[in-house]
Amino acid sequence: MKIYIDGKFYSKDEANISVFDHGLLYGDGIFEGIRVYNGKVFRLKEHIDRLYSSAQAIALNIGMTRDEMMNAVEYSVKVNEKQNAYIRLVVTRGSGDLGISPYLCKKATVIIIVGDISLYPEENYAEGIAIMTSSIRRISPDQFDTRIKSLNYLNNILAKIEAVQAGCLEAVMLASDGYVAECTADNIFTVKKGVVYTPHSYGSNLEGITRGAVMDAAKNLAIECRETKLSQYDLYTADEVFITGTGAEIMPVTKIDGRIIGEGTVGPVTVLLRKEFRNIAGIAG
Ligand code: PMP
Repeated sequence: MKIYIDGKFYSKDEANISVFDHGLLYGDGIFEGIRVYNGKVFRLKEHIDRLYSSAQAIALNIGMTRDEMMNAVEYSVKVNEKQNAYIRLVVTRGSGDLGISPYLCKKATVIIIVGDISLYPEENYAEGIAIMTSSIRRISPDQFDTRIKSLNYLNNILAKIEAVQAGCLEAVMLASDGYVAECTADNIFTVKKGVVYTPHSYGSNLEGITRGAVMDAAKNLAIECRETKLSQYDLYTADEVFITGTGAEIMPVTKIDGRIIGEGTVGPVTVLLRKEFRNIAGIAG
């Protein structure tokens, strides 16, 4: 494995950053998780645009143009000779003296890891998964806009701990107003009477790249898709529910907080969208 750090490649053992890096000390940084399918980086431009929006929002100067960043990602995939991979692109504030001021850091640190992805077992896609509602609310946009994909995931991690302790793979997080925001590392969708719904962002969830691809898939299939407000009631009474993310792609949900969703099996709209998503991503099968 060859890991890119600030323009140079290092082996896994030699790829180190400073203990004074503010990404480590304060979670001061941003990241992207990106898939490579059959040698092609999926929606690279969208990921780079989201990265640069995150950087803009936290006043972080990446020190590279978008084109340079896209080339660095593509080149890292080439150097690692991978056809299918998961890329972790991290940009930290860089290393500086102790103290939270970002102005103590002279230069951002850019890291690109082209690794493998541990996929969910096929039976999860065939049967759907059970999820639960976390007691941890998603941070509200007046505290921190969750469209920023920042290095501080403790809000989500607390909810993930609850999920794992409850024997679930994912947890739904509500926004501060009590409406559904998203899951700990996935967006969420419902299907009701043939219409697809997903919570509008309003700064309370990440604008997922997979979420965008699913909305495109719905459009291609002439299925109506609306960004709206969803409550727990809407989840419980939906015909179908699924979650989306770079790792999970489209994962059906058949149980929430002990309630069986719809027929308790993977629904027909979820199947159609999953097929079209795989077409869009160029995934065989
Ligand atoms: N929400 C959160 C909090 C996430 O961390 C992620 C990414 N794992 C998602 C949603 C899904 O986003 P994407 O489709 O871009 O992976």
